[in-house]
Amino acid sequence: MNRDSTLIFTKQNNREHNNFVPLLDIEELEDLDVILPKKYQRESLNLPNIPEIEIVRHYIGLSKKNYSVDTGIYPLGSCTMKYNPKINEVISRLPHFSQLHPLQERNQGALEIISEMSNCLSEITGMEGFTLQPAAGAHGELTGLLIMKKYFEENNIVKNKIIVPDSAHGTNPASAKMAGFSIIELTSNEFGEVPLDQLEYAMQDEFVAGIMLTNPNTLGVFDRNIKEITRIVHDKGGLCYYDGANLNPMLGICRPKDMGFDIVHLNLHKTFSTPHGGGGPGSGPVGVVKRLIPHLPEPCIITKDKGIVCRENTGASIGKIRAFWGSFGVIVKAYAYVLSLGAEGLKRVGQFAVLNANYLRTRLQEKYHLPYNRICQHEFVLSDKNLPNEITTEDVAKRILDYGAYSPTIYFPLIVNGAMMFEPTETESKQSLDAYIDILFNIYEEAVSKPELLKNAPHDTPVRRLDAVTAARNPILHD
Ligand SMILES: *Cc1c(COP(=O)(O)O)cnc(C)c1O
Repeated sequence: MNRDSTLIFTKQNNREHNNFVPLLDIEELEDLDVILPKKYQRESLNLPNIPEIEIVRHYIGLSKKNYSVDTGIYPLGSCTMKYNPKINEVISRLPHFSQLHPLQERNQGALEIISEMSNCLSEITGMEGFTLQPAAGAHGELTGLLIMKKYFEENNIVKNKIIVPDSAHGTNPASAKMAGFSIIELTSNEFGEVPLDQLEYAMQDEFVAGIMLTNPNTLGVFDRNIKEITRIVHDKGGLCYYDGANLNPMLGICRPKDMGFDIVHLNLHKTFSTPHGGGGPGSGPVGVVKRLIPHLPEPCIITKDKGIVCRENTGASIGKIRAFWGSFGVIVKAYAYVLSLGAEGLKRVGQFAVLNANYLRTRLQEKYHLPYNRICQHEFVLSDKNLPNEITTEDVAKRILDYGAYSPTIYFPLIVNGAMMFEPTETESKQSLDAYIDILFNIYEEAVSKPELLKNAPHDTPVRRLDAVTAARNPILHD
């Protein structure tokens, strides 16, 4: 593809078209330099010199190159790229919500939504207090771990290490490190679960503050010993942190509090009606059990006779974690989603997420290698182990694009070589899953009979196979 053709500036010709910016028809401000110092003023406005129709075609053309869940299946494991009902977008954009100024801090309606949403999340997770401030999953992890740290500090207990299994999301050890913990990694056993003997051993160390666990983990498997795990940690005075970024399959079925967890973060921008990624704002609420509530960030709201107010600073709070109240629009969408589904609807989300993943798993297993051969939850991980002609995961992923569909998450989790992590989500129909299965079966046949087709894929996309390392290290963002 001619890369230049994607830039609007290269589309201009020599004719004068500047009709979309009219000439100044008022007097120029004389004291402009006072309002805006000269060094901040632009000499000339470098707008492309092309007619309006070309601009429209340019941007519509670019938008048509996008792939999204509105155009097709998006089984990107661990990201929960499900279809989110448009009504929730519409509601969050109502001027009553979208035109609120963040400094209108006492707006009772807005505070009520935050408070109600916290209550919903408490019911869903079993936790007793929530903050909706954090801006993302990883930000929620940092918040939760700072709460854990504060708890031990307030109780004059020195604990500065934390256990993270090797099946964790990469953000877990990163957040733990940022919060000042050093990390003890546990190697998952052959079932993809936490080895209890290793956990017991690690907990002998009095400086271990607790464990950070994802359940179901990034292999998509539920740890059957979960109550035993949290008991072992609690017996040694530790706390248990639940990474609930992938709560989708658990909705209405299983609560982190009942598994024995003390702190949880959720991703509203996965499970609750905002897509993950895509550059928009996110929201990573953090819930805690009662004894940790004093450590929640400020401002923290409570209901009093005069309405919803900020609680008095407890002195034990971790402080402020984000400006104002968090990503309010995302919270409104999540609230609309929860209210529209209700308890029964949320439960069906969980059930169908698990059913769809297991249907896809059992079918794809006919051709592809499944390293952890168990019933899965929201996702499962295949590998390229038995593919013929040295076909790799990358070859398969690139070839999927030629079929006009989206690839799974690849080469993650790291504990599976050549991992392909599929999360179909509850919103795909059986027809859509069958069509995807056909694509993967076709690709398998091509791997046997025409491996070159895969090695050189993709063939039909705007750009062919990129050098991912160079693209990441030396991105060319503009001409
Ligand atoms: C997505 C995800 C995260 C991180 O969430 P971000 O919003 O991307 O920071 C953490 N843990 C798990 C298991 C995840 O899937």
